[in-house]
Amino acid sequence: AELRNIAILGSTGSIGKQTLEVIESNPGLFRACVLTAQSNADLLIQQALKFNPDYVVIADDTRYQEVKSGLSETDITVLSGADAIAEVVTNNSIDIVLTALVGFSGLKPTVAAIKAGKDIALANKETLVVAGDLITSLASKYRVKILPVDSEHSAIFQCLVGEEQNTIEKIYLTASGGPFRGRDSYFLKTVTRLQALKHPNWVMGAKITIDSASLMNKGLEVIEAKWLFNLDVSQIDVIVHPQSIIHSIVQFEDGSMKAQMGLPDMKLPIQYALTYPQRIKTQFQRFNFLDYPQLTFERPDADTFRNLAIAFEALRTGGNMPCIINAANEIAVAEFLNDRIGFLEMSELIEVCMAKVSYVANPSLSDYFETDRLTRVIASEFVTSSF
Ligand code: NDP
Ligand code: MG
Repeated sequence: AELRNIAILGSTGSIGKQTLEVIESNPGLFRACVLTAQSNADLLIQQALKFNPDYVVIADDTRYQEVKSGLSETDITVLSGADAIAEVVTNNSIDIVLTALVGFSGLKPTVAAIKAGKDIALANKETLVVAGDLITSLASKYRVKILPVDSEHSAIFQCLVGEEQNTIEKIYLTASGGPFRGRDSYFLKTVTRLQALKHPNWVMGAKITIDSASLMNKGLEVIEAKWLFNLDVSQIDVIVHPQSIIHSIVQFEDGSMKAQMGLPDMKLPIQYALTYPQRIKTQFQRFNFLDYPQLTFERPDADTFRNLAIAFEALRTGGNMPCIINAANEIAVAEFLNDRIGFLEMSELIEVCMAKVSYVANPSLSDYFETDRLTRVIASEFVTSSF
C-alpha cells in the first residue's frame, strides 16, 4: 500500500493522540504531515519532534513564539491562528484530513479541506450536526469521502460494506447510557461536574464526556447518522446497551440485522477510517464472549434526559435548528463545567435558544456562522440573567 499522509486537526486531544498511536504502530502506512492544537504548546512541540510533520498550527496566537522556538532546530513550518488551520488543510501533500477538534471550530477547516479535494476522516461530529446538508453536498460535488471515526458510525459504515443504501430499513445507534443511566431528575439536579466527567466505558475529552452524561452526544450522533448515511429521521433509533460491545446495528429490508462488535477502543474506528476500504492486522485486544455472559439492552429515558428528545426535534425541524442546539449546548457544557449552571439547566438553556434564535429554513454557510454567533450571545446572556 502507498503511504497515506494524514493531517490531524486537534492532535493534542483524546482522538488526536490515539490517531498518532495508530500512525506510530504502522510506520510504512501513514505519515502525520500536519499537527494542530488550540493552546497545548508543550504537547504539540513534543508530538512534532517525534513525528516530524511538514506543518504545525497552534490556534492560540499567544503561544506562537513558544512553539516556534521549541521547533527552531527543525525545518517544520509553524503557523498560528484559527484561520491558519483552514489554510493548511489545502496543502498538496495531504491525502486525508482527520478532524478531531471540538465543536463548531471544525466547520471552517472541514469546508476548506473538502473544497481542496481531501478525504475527511470525521471525528468532529458537530460539523455534520451544524451543517450536514452543506457538508454532504460539498463532499459529493468535490468527490471526497467522509469516513466516520465515531464508533457507532464506523460500526454502521462497516455493516454497510457490500450493501445497497436503499435496502436499509433502519439503524440502531447504541448508547452506553453514561454515568447517570437509570437516575431520575431529582438526582440529576444536584450532580457535579466531577460525577459527570466519569464515563463508565470510554476516556474522552471533557466536552464529549459531558455530552455522553446528558445524552446530548447520542442526540448529536442521530443527526450525524442522518447525514452520513442519507437516512430519514424515522429510520434512526437509539438503544441503550451499557456494555458498549455492540457498537451499532443496521436492519435491512429483508429483516436481517448486522451489528459490529468489539471491546471499546477508539483506535479501531480511527484506523478503519484511515485504511478504508482495507483492513490491517493489529494487536488490539480481542473480545472474549465469556467475559461478557450478558449483553443487555434498554430504552433510553428521553423524558429525564431531555437532550435526546431535543436533538430529534431539531433534526425534524431542520434548517438552522441543529446549529442552534449545537451552539447552545457548547455554551451549556462550558457553563456546567465552570459550575455556573446545573446539569438539568443545560437542557433548559438549549430550549430557550431554540425559542429565541430566529429560524432560517435554508441556511448558507454564512447563515450558520451568524446563527452560531447569535446563539452564543443569547445563551450567555440568559445564563447571566437567569441562573
Ligand atoms: P479533546 O478535547 O480531547 O481534544 C480536542 C482537540 O482539539 C485538542 O487538540 C484541542 O487543542 C483542539 N481544539 C479544541 N478547541 C479548538 C478550537 N476552538 N480550535 C482549534 N483547535 C481546538 O476532544 P476529543 O478528542 O475527545 O474529541 C474531538 C472530537 O471527536 C469531538 O468532536 C468529539 O465529539 C469527537 N469524538 C471523540 C471521541 C473520543 O473518544 N474522544 C469519540 C467519538 C467522537 P488543545 O489540546 O490545545 O486544547
Ligand atoms: Mg460515539
